Amino acid sequence: MLRTPADEILIAGRFRRGAGTPISTVNPADGTVITTVHAASAEEVDEAARAAAEAVADPAWRELLPHQRARLLHRIADLVEEHADELSALQTADTGKSLTETRALALSAAGTFRYTAAALETAEDALTPARGPYLTMSVYEPIGVVGAINPWNSPIASDAQKVAPALAGGNAVLLKPAEWTPLVSLAFGRLVHRALTEAGLPTALLSVLPGKGRVVGDAIVHHPLVRRIGFTGGTSTGRSIARSAADKLIPASLELGGKSPTIVREDADVDQALAGVMFGIFSSSGQSCIAGSRLFVHRSRYDAFVGELVERVRKLRVGPGTDAATQVAPLVHHRHRDAVADYVDLARSEGGRVLCGGAAPAGPQYADGAYYLPTVIDGLPNSARVCQEEIFGPVLLALPYDDEDDLVAQANDSVFGLACGIWTRDARAAWRLARRIDAGTVWINTYKQFSISTPFGGMKESGLGTEKGRDLIRAYQRQKSLYWGTAESPLPWAN
Ligand code: NAD
Repeated sequence: MLRTPADEILIAGRFRRGAGTPISTVNPADGTVITTVHAASAEEVDEAARAAAEAVADPAWRELLPHQRARLLHRIADLVEEHADELSALQTADTGKSLTETRALALSAAGTFRYTAAALETAEDALTPARGPYLTMSVYEPIGVVGAINPWNSPIASDAQKVAPALAGGNAVLLKPAEWTPLVSLAFGRLVHRALTEAGLPTALLSVLPGKGRVVGDAIVHHPLVRRIGFTGGTSTGRSIARSAADKLIPASLELGGKSPTIVREDADVDQALAGVMFGIFSSSGQSCIAGSRLFVHRSRYDAFVGELVERVRKLRVGPGTDAATQVAPLVHHRHRDAVADYVDLARSEGGRVLCGGAAPAGPQYADGAYYLPTVIDGLPNSARVCQEEIFGPVLLALPYDDEDDLVAQANDSVFGLACGIWTRDARAAWRLARRIDAGTVWINTYKQFSISTPFGGMKESGLGTEKGRDLIRAYQRQKSLYWGTAESPLPWAN
């Protein structure tokens, strides 16, 4: 059984209470305080970074061959799988998400470690074609200490997507979970620590450093020993991290926000599109960077489609994540629920029509939780603030379009470019649209499906760089070119 790990955090390979400002974690389903997390201080980030740098240089780690590091990754995957139920329960308590979703996230984290292990075993240094009397090759080396900074919406999956390739690349990691959801990352840290201990490897290869406010994130980003940042979170935080990374001249990958269009053409399979549009926005209660939050329907089908959609949305079951029947669970935090409600009020004040939802659900069972009804709004232009800004909640904006050029102009009129969904039976139209929309990921007749073997990243203000895919480890390595002379007198100045 995993202990609720909040009493101790993982600093420089050891569990202890952090000296930072404590964090109270709240169960958003009922408002109860789960526990107090003894968060890290900036000084403890420094301690963790120094220990991490020593761990990276330790021959026990540095000299491991790829298949030996892959074995560590497989062991971590085994432990995550063995503990999937506990990790899932902890994450549901902390985030409000359904147990079905949090279990899937835990298993996907294990899958990420296995895939990364396979990628590591098959990654090769490259012999590059020589253009002279020498052999040339590219070799890949660890970067050193890397920072991994994550948001609250899918903690363990985001953790795995950074920690697995970072360890595979031979680095050490300082992992910073979000203030609202540190528990599952701490539990995950315990499992990685166990795998490292069993293998006789330096345990300071992973620190898990929750923090109140910006203190810990700032300390990681600005620490001179931290030579790469993997960040997932909001666009404004990403921008500030990119500035700091530019000052240090270190690489940063940024997975940021979105306002993704989901498009229903006049020839779509209506039932499939209805199910897909609802899943795209209301699963995870809309708290998903790739949520399909702007719905574009061809004007000829608009009234019928949106009318039927609203009927079905009203029937979605809202409830706690621990109830297997729940489709829309509470939002992560009461403060976030209030921010979502403010956006709906803004839509009303700008003349939007709230077709369903638009309030917290009524009933004593919802009174103390951070619930919000799934909401559909129309009657606003794409230029309205609620169509342009990320709400990150169960709020769908519906808009009609007239023809393909009008559709592409509206869909692309956004600072974001993360994802897009297209519902159509016309393969050529799907292809054309998929190429014209600014989005890092386009789903055709499906939505919110993910494969670790397919790279993921955003365009425009949705991000820089990618995670996942065959080359996921390369992002956590530095490339070096070697030239090896093969002739006796290869140089012009040789006698
Ligand atoms: P956030 O940007 O507020 O916080 C993300 C993380 O950054 C947290 O751990 C936070 O403590 C830390 N942080 C905050 N200020 C910092 C600073 N100045 N320096 C360093 N670290 C700092 O985001 P959030 O509210 O936790 O998460 C929601 C956002 O994440 C949404 O915008 C969502 O779209 C985005 N997101 C994107 C993806 C993606 O893959 N593109 C995935 C999930 C979530």
